[in-house]
Amino acid sequence: MKSVDTIAAELLGYDPQALRADDVGAFLSRLVEPVTRTETVGILEALGRVLAQDLVSPISVPAHDNSAMDGFALDGSQLRTDSPLQLKVVGTALAGRAWVGAVSQGECLKIMTGAILPAGLDTVVPQELVQGDGANITIPAGVLARGENRRCLGEDLMQGQVALQKGELLTPAALGLVASLGIKEVLVWRRLRVAYFSTGDELLSLGQAPREGAVYDSNRYTVLGMLARLGCEVVDLGVVRDDAALLEAAFMRAAQRCDAIITSGGVSVGEADFTKAMMKKLGDVAFWKIAMRPGRPMAAGRIPRVKSGPDARRTSVDSYHNDSDMDLSEAAILFGLPGNPVAVMVTFLAFVRPALLQMMGARMRPRPLLKARSAQAIRKKPGRTEYQRGIVSTATDGSLLVRITGNQGSGVLRSMVEANGLIVLGHAQGNVAAGETVDVMMFDGVI
Ligand code: AMP
Ligand code: MG
Repeated sequence: MKSVDTIAAELLGYDPQALRADDVGAFLSRLVEPVTRTETVGILEALGRVLAQDLVSPISVPAHDNSAMDGFALDGSQLRTDSPLQLKVVGTALAGRAWVGAVSQGECLKIMTGAILPAGLDTVVPQELVQGDGANITIPAGVLARGENRRCLGEDLMQGQVALQKGELLTPAALGLVASLGIKEVLVWRRLRVAYFSTGDELLSLGQAPREGAVYDSNRYTVLGMLARLGCEVVDLGVVRDDAALLEAAFMRAAQRCDAIITSGGVSVGEADFTKAMMKKLGDVAFWKIAMRPGRPMAAGRIPRVKSGPDARRTSVDSYHNDSDMDLSEAAILFGLPGNPVAVMVTFLAFVRPALLQMMGARMRPRPLLKARSAQAIRKKPGRTEYQRGIVSTATDGSLLVRITGNQGSGVLRSMVEANGLIVLGHAQGNVAAGETVDVMMFDGVI
């Protein structure tokens, strides 16, 4: 486990006052560690979980050569391109049971989709391509080549082959593959437990009456939603007011119970210093100004689970037991996000989500960025990464077009709702001309 200072020293050109967005990922990937405990779960509970071992196929799929069509199975070596082929039908092979018997030259077998191809038969002619009376068929010349409409043994998977790799995020497709191997339970990493609270005296919880200068706490719902999409177990600590004792209690409660703590608000420059001061007091934390928009301020580091030092026993928090299913590492990872609602979502997607996936034991496969033509000119200053809310659509010529949602203010949550992706304009990039190609990080399945 490396300290924040050690990680900072490893990163060339690290400048917490003007950190490049690209360097945030490099920092966080050194900070976090994957969970170490595993559990076995039934396939239906495995959706969204991360596989903790290579899954080796105990069988071949399909287990036999079989027919891909309803039709007639034959030895394809008899086919000629210049003359029709007449065959006698000697039986019917149904899916789910093996047909017993021999099929000689000049003969064929009526066969259903999925039925095993008996030895010696390697080709299936679809029913609709033949003429015949049921007892005999004629295959016209040139309609079929040898080997067509056959599914080969093991063409999906061979016995002994790795069907899914350790670290694979189990999607519906992956679950289907697991089931196709006859496997009903899988070994997965335990779920990540993540605590969240919003900070700020101006925040209203739902149910509270509006008052002047106050805003409803929306970050709690965007963050909890994104965490749920990631399959995390969430500890919701609500709104914590700017009060040292309350903040300390919240951080310590969260650190005791969770692998990671996410907060929003209280990390920007002009803040009444409560949140930052408490992070400093309790943890090993870096405070950044990131060269990005939206979302400049952010904090990241660790909060130890148990306070050390002379005042370790004098704490306002009572629940200092470790939950039995926690890893034994002694600190929770802290992500202190900015307060502005769009900044929270953007920093979560750009930085926190990949770090959490790493903690979940997921193999890192960077999400591909979409390339789309910008429908309009976009003003952009070089020297910071910008994440503009975009709506990708298909132009009349079939190409992808992206336009920005109106107001790009970092408090305008509507822009996130209207958008279907973030236009990512890189650090060095300047103004974008109309028609220029830009990168888009799509939201699909993520938020
Ligand atoms: P801060 O980073 O704490 O200065 O917050 C920046 C802006 O985000 C302020 O206008 C806050 O009122 C707003 N904000 C902070 N936390 C929340 C929240 N949980 N929900 C909605 N808005 C928030
Ligand atoms: Mg604040």
